[in-house]
Formats: sequence, structure tokens, C-alpha cells
Amino acid sequence: MSNKQTMSFQTEVKQLLQLMIHSLYSNKEIFLRELVSNASDAIDKLRFEQIKDPKLNHGQELFIELSFDKDKKTITLSDNGIGMTYDEVIENIGTIAKSGTKKFIEQLSGDEKKDANLIGQFGVGFYSAFIVAKEVELITLKAGLKNDEAVCWISDGSGEFSIETVNKEISGTTIILHLKDDNDDLLSDWQLRSLIRKYSDHINYPIKMLKTPELDKDGKEVEAAPELETVNKANALWVRNKNDITDEEYKEFYKHIAHDFHDPLVWTHSRVEGTQEYTQLLYIPSQAPFDLYDNKRRYGIKLYIKRVFIMDDAEKLLPNYLRFVRGIIDSQNLPLNVSREILQSSKDIDAIRSGATKKILSLLEDMAKNEPENYTKFYKEFGNVLKEGIIEDFANKDRIAKLLRFATTTSNSTEPTVSLEEYVARASSEQDKIYYITAESYNAAKNSPHLEIFKQKNIEVLLLTDRIDEWVSSHLSDFDKKQLVSVASANLDLGKADEKTEEEQKAKAEAAKPVLEKIKTALGDKIKDVNVTTRLVNSPSCLVVDNHGMSIHMERLLKQAGQAVPESKPTLEVNLDHVLLKKIDGTVDADQTRDLALIIYDQAALAEGLQLDDPTAFVTRMNSLIS
Ligand code: ADP
Repeated sequence: MSNKQTMSFQTEVKQLLQLMIHSLYSNKEIFLRELVSNASDAIDKLRFEQIKDPKLNHGQELFIELSFDKDKKTITLSDNGIGMTYDEVIENIGTIAKSGTKKFIEQLSGDEKKDANLIGQFGVGFYSAFIVAKEVELITLKAGLKNDEAVCWISDGSGEFSIETVNKEISGTTIILHLKDDNDDLLSDWQLRSLIRKYSDHINYPIKMLKTPELDKDGKEVEAAPELETVNKANALWVRNKNDITDEEYKEFYKHIAHDFHDPLVWTHSRVEGTQEYTQLLYIPSQAPFDLYDNKRRYGIKLYIKRVFIMDDAEKLLPNYLRFVRGIIDSQNLPLNVSREILQSSKDIDAIRSGATKKILSLLEDMAKNEPENYTKFYKEFGNVLKEGIIEDFANKDRIAKLLRFATTTSNSTEPTVSLEEYVARASSEQDKIYYITAESYNAAKNSPHLEIFKQKNIEVLLLTDRIDEWVSSHLSDFDKKQLVSVASANLDLGKADEKTEEEQKAKAEAAKPVLEKIKTALGDKIKDVNVTTRLVNSPSCLVVDNHGMSIHMERLLKQAGQAVPESKPTLEVNLDHVLLKKIDGTVDADQTRDLALIIYDQAALAEGLQLDDPTAFVTRMNSLIS
């Protein structure tokens, strides 16, 4: 009785498949790398399961076999790894798209070159088979199941697949590609061998092909029993001596473990000896993966113990703010039966994690110093994630702070390029603080009235415009013994750089009491207080908050995120030299005073990027002022 069923791919899977086939065609050979990579992962998993359950040992050497048939136009790749159950086939390569696929597809532009880049970032995987195949047949038996519980999955990649249970002798997966017409170039012993050497040399397990028949002196094939031979190097790359590994090999290994289409930016490979003995090969990608901020993301560090693969995604091996790092850590001391639970509370793991973290920070420091262009690339992709380290990693806060880059009022670039060290080195000896402003955008920050006095006094200010910056600045209270201060804090103290004006200021404030009272009465409970400003030069007014209060920008971010924010009122600061203030001072009409006070309040709110309660009223008041 046939138990064959036909099912449909999820819409997103269909779309992704079509896009992939079109945009990756010029790179069609990568299908082999992707399938070999999956086969190797499957053997890794079986080897690990065998440690716990020796019954899963099928008695065969663990290897991958590649063959082709010129007449049938097929390429066949087999592994004797873990295999998949019926449900796993459906889940892994059938209907269900990875989380975030839909969002990802929406980003694609239809421009093939650009999309090929993006698709690589998504991880092409199994579906790359359809770049070269008009039909893909997959037969798989999960280790531990009975021979008649194997599964055969067939699809032409257009929208549906069939699935049925079949017989298979040994656990593992066989994939048969029925090639599209114009792929005869792949049906060649020489071509397949060179693709394996190019892309999959570093795979830990033997990749075998039939021995090429020898030719006799007349050029005829010598009859011999078919025999398999290993085509790749087949030993763990990271165990080899650094000097014997080429950059190409490092890069291909990266693509295998990271499921990334692009070359990595940099890597570090080292053996650590001491109480914990381990080898680490860690990479920094050149592009952020599409799911960097997705909490269901996969692929971090792979943990090996004495060269046996233990687990993917060992999130305990690096802190969260280094989640962009890919690579492997191979421990000599950990017990093979380690589980995720054990990892959670293992002192050995803590030591490895701390060592790996330091290694990555050194790698970044080195890049910042010696390869500034690469560092800029890195920072563009991952700077905002690195910043989380200021909050997350107290022990390394100073090192991370040095790695941060900012746009500033002096740098004249919207890109973050200035380090805190540079800032401090440039500041005058009088300046004992580091000033920053947080705002919604570069322009809002750069043109904020809060910066007027800083421009006048030639004091550099960091322009912080990423969402995370509010949190970072509240955790980074000082750098190099200099306090970080928001230019919008109420008791702005420009320190020695501003001693004289402070005296003048007091006298001014005394004289200004009547006009301040007028404004305060007019604005009522909109504000906490009105003060004479020290920071404005051209604008009439601005809003400030208490030094330890929540910034106006932070309040807005929290409200946008739907969080309840405690009610707090800003203080209005006014510039007595401004014509509007002179007007208020001069008028005796209560209505006119009120209108003018509201105008200067609303202007200050607008400069903070706030929404006005009543924009129409603001416009009416402005118009009547002009006329
Ligand atoms: P990725 O490898 O990026 O996870 P793929 O589309 O290549 O994505 O594969 C999806 C999943 O299918 C894999 O994570 C794995 O669980 C399963 N899979 C693919 N190939 C094999 C194989 N040869 N043996 C066992 N499982 C496999």
C-alpha cells in the first residue's frame, strides 16, 4: 500500500526558492558545498549521539560519498549520519520557513546582484540544490529507527513535494539531484573533485568518490572492481598548525560553520594551555546576519570536546554582546557527556568564556589600530551590538568603551568614527568632562539648541542617535576619569572652561526674576521651573531634565515601546538676550505674555523632537506674532 502524500511549501519558502534559483545561478557550484556541509553536520550529530547510546553505532566508517551518472544526468550525495524522521523532514526542509523569512523576503529588491548578496546572508542551505536540479530526491533514515521507517521526499522546487515511508539499510541521508539540462559540466569526475577540494577540503570526514579507472598504454580503461577513495583532506582544520592553513581554507571553513555566503572579515586561531586546555577558531563576519536581533537566531559557537562535535549554538561560550562571532571551541578537559544544563553552571565553561571574550576584544583592538578600514566596516555592521557590552560586561567595560566610535560635532561625518580616547586627547586641558547629546537622528542632534554654547566655546560633543545609546550612556558614567555628561542635564556645568560666566550668570538671574515669574505663571504646570540658560546663544529656549532624571529622548523611546513612564516635568531654560524674551519682558498684557510664553515652550519642545499637544494653536500664535 502506498502511503505517499503530497504537501505544499509555505508561501515564503516558495518565494525564497524562486529568488535563490535566479539570483545564485551564476554561483551554481555552491550547491555542493551546502549539501556537503549539511552531511558533515549530520555525521557530527550521529557521532555525538553514539557517545550516549552505543546502539546507534551502525558499524560503518563515518563518511560522505559523492557519485554521478552521466546518462541519467544525476549527482548523488550520501552520508551515514543522523538522518531525519518523517516529521523532521517536513519541518526542516518541507513546509516551514525559518523565523524571519517573510521580513527577509520583503527586503529583497529584485536586483539580482544585490539579492544574491542578501540571500547569502540568509544562509542558502539545502534549497541551493534547486539551483542545479529540476528534481531533488531525498531518502533518509533516522539513526535508531527501523529500516522500514525511512522517508523519501521528492520535489521539483516549484511549490509541492511528495513524501512517503520507504526502506533504507543504514541511517543517514542520500540526496539525488536530477540535473537541469544545462549542467552537463557538473557530470565530470574532474569537476566534482575540484569542487570538493575548493569548497570542502576542511570537512572533518572523508568525502569519497569512485577511484578513477587507470588507463592502459592504448588509453583504454583497465577493468577493476570499483573502489572508493577519499578526495578531501578530512581532518579537523583547527587541529592543524596555523602556518599550514591557507587563508582560502580558513574562509571556506568559516562558510561551512557560519552558513554564510560571504568571506569573514577577520579571524583568530589559537591554542590555550593551562588549567583549561582548548583550541579556539573564532571569526568575525563581514556582514550582519538577517537575524542578529531575532531572539530565535541560531549559529554562534560550536562546541567540540576532543574533536567530537558536542553542540551548535553554545550560547554560554561567549557573552550575548559578542553574538555576531562565529567559530568553534574545542576543549580538551570537558567531559564528553556535557549537556546544556551543565554548561549553564560550569566553572570550566566560565573560564573558557572569559578567555574567548578577551581574545575577541584583542582581535577588535588590533583591527582598530592596524586595520582601521576593516574596523569601520566591522563597526557599521556590529557596533550597536558591541555597545550592549557596556551594559552587560562590567569586567571588560573599559576595554569595550575604548572600542566604541561616535559621530561628534567636530568630526563632520554622520558615521561613527571618533573614539573616546581621541575625544579626550582633543579636549582642552580645562575641560574635565565628556559631553554628549542623545536625539532621534543625526540632524536633530547636530542642530539642537543645546549645542549652541558648545559651538561657541569650541567644545566637542558626542552625537548619540542609536536607540541603544540612551542605555549605554546611562551605564558609562565615566571614561579616563572624565565624567560623561548630557548636554541636556539641568545643572550643566562647563567646569573650568566656563568659570567666569557662572559669576555673571548669578547676577543675571537675579535681575531676571520678574520675567521668569511671568513665564512660570503663564505656563503653569507644563513645566517644573524656569531658569536663565547658560547654554543658548541663538535660540530663545530649551528643555532640560534633572541630572539624574530620565532624559526626554529616553522617555520618548520608552513610550514608543509601550512602557509606562513615570510623570516628570522638564525645566524650561530661556535666553534673555533673545528678542522673544525681551518682548515678554516689555509687555504688560497677560494674554500676550501667555502666547509668547507658549511659543517659546513649544519651540523648545519641537527642538527635542516632541509632539505638540496642540500644533494648530502653535501655528496660530506664530502667525499672529509675525503679523
Ligand atoms: P541549515 O543547514 O542552514 O540549517 P538547511 O536548509 O541546509 O539549513 O537544512 C535545514 C535542516 O535540515 C538542517 O538544519 C538539518 O536539521 C536538516 N538536514 C539537512 N540536510 C541534512 C542531512 N544530510 N542529514 C540530516 N539532516 C539534514
